[in-house]
Amino acid sequence: MRIDGQTRLTGIIGYPLRYTLSPVLHNAAFQHLGLNWCYVPLPVERPFLHQALEGVRALNFVGINVTMPYKEEVIQFLDEIASYARVVGAVNTIHVKGHRLIGYNTDGRGFLASLQRDAKFDPKGENVLIVGAGGAARSVAVSLALAGASYIAIVNRTLRRARSLSRLLRENFPSCEVEAMDFEADLSRVFLKAELVINATPVGMDPKSGKLPFPIELLNPKHLVCDLIYRPRETLLLKMAKEKGARTLGGLGMLLHQGAAAFEIWTNLEPPIEVMRKALEEALEEDRHGEG
Ligand code: NAP
Repeated sequence: MRIDGQTRLTGIIGYPLRYTLSPVLHNAAFQHLGLNWCYVPLPVERPFLHQALEGVRALNFVGINVTMPYKEEVIQFLDEIASYARVVGAVNTIHVKGHRLIGYNTDGRGFLASLQRDAKFDPKGENVLIVGAGGAARSVAVSLALAGASYIAIVNRTLRRARSLSRLLRENFPSCEVEAMDFEADLSRVFLKAELVINATPVGMDPKSGKLPFPIELLNPKHLVCDLIYRPRETLLLKMAKEKGARTLGGLGMLLHQGAAAFEIWTNLEPPIEVMRKALEEALEEDRHGEG
């Protein structure tokens, strides 16, 4: 990669940013298409968030991604917010257009693309069980309701947050049936009703991260089980689901497709998906060897 006076800048704002794979994903795509563009990590501490965004505008960035913990906080500093991001209440992609900061959320689009392309699953008319009610669960739930899911159960450790997400879904998608539950509820009924089961919590990232409330014994070949976690690529949940004959989908596809959607917003070009996928897979493989 050659940096010169015409290099266009993109990057990612978050804190800390030690483990982000986005630079690998985007720089591989820029290089493949021969674009004189570059993607850099921009770790920003909270008191400087507003200044950092003004910096992005002033320094003529094409755009940036936003990650934890700022996806919600950045909204107040933007000039315009796309409707899906407004409903979700979180922004993960900013496009700087004519010095205006325009916010998008590509997480839900990334999840749907992975669901449809990688797992060949169309959520229209289907019943869904989501464990978690944080940012990722919100993006996924809204995108599934938009895609015509007929029933969504939100199961969360903290009932208040499950209820708040279910309210958001009911208000925006009155034709979708919604239920909110905590881990104490009897989940057998919703488990048997669901075709699609999603873990949208960090439980499973490492063996000490906690326990999910899934009645694994009820999983069967009619289920598609998704884990939004992408490191490790196969979580314990996915391993157990496979043993029960269920189909499985890890979080790498969502990561890939949310990045591809951001790439498309910034460049207006078709993203080179397979190049981006390979770059991600190689980076994860290197990390695994580094950690092991
Ligand atoms: P978040 O906003 O912090 O929400 C975390 C959620 O997980 C909350 O519902 C929380 O429940 C629950 N949770 C946390 N620790 C738990 C535990 N020990 N036991 C039970 N529930 C627990 O985080 P997020 O941004 O939604 O991210 C959630 C997961 O999705 C992470 O693993 C992240 O890596 C993954 N993710 C993947 C992608 C992708 O592209 N593949 C994109 C975004 C996120 P409470 O409400 O009770 O605290």
